[in-house]
Order: sequence, then structure tokens, then C-alpha cells
Amino acid sequence: MSKGDDKFEHHYQRQQDQRKDRMKNLPGEDEDPLPPPVEPIRKEDAEPGRNDPCPCGSGKKYKQCCINKK
Ligand SMILES: [Zn+2]
Repeated sequence: MSKGDDKFEHHYQRQQDQRKDRMKNLPGEDEDPLPPPVEPIRKEDAEPGRNDPCPCGSGKKYKQCCINKK
């Protein structure tokens, strides 16, 4: 038995701990809370849905009527 082995063991253990700590500090790819880009919903002046009846009263779908008339 030599003290060298103990030292090595200790050193090795420390490396493992440091690695664990680093892993902890890194944001996990799964945990990264990146919210998907969501378009803000405007309650006033909201556009009708593309498949909704056109607000101009033509009876057509908005996407087939006034969606391009702005
Ligand atoms: Zn229209």
C-alpha cells in the first residue's frame, strides 16, 4: 500500500465530482425552456381566421376575399 494510490483515488474522485457539478450547471437540452415563438394575440383589431367568413359580408372565406386587400 502506498499513499500514492490514495492520492490518485482522491484526485479521481474530485474529477468526477467536478464533472458532475459542471453537468449540473449546464442547462440540459431537454430542460432549456425556449418558448416557441407565439404571435401576440390582439383582441382589438384582430384579423379573422383565414377560413372564417369574410367580415366584409361577401359570404366568402376571408382567405378567398379580403385577405389580400389591406
Ligand atoms: Zn371580403
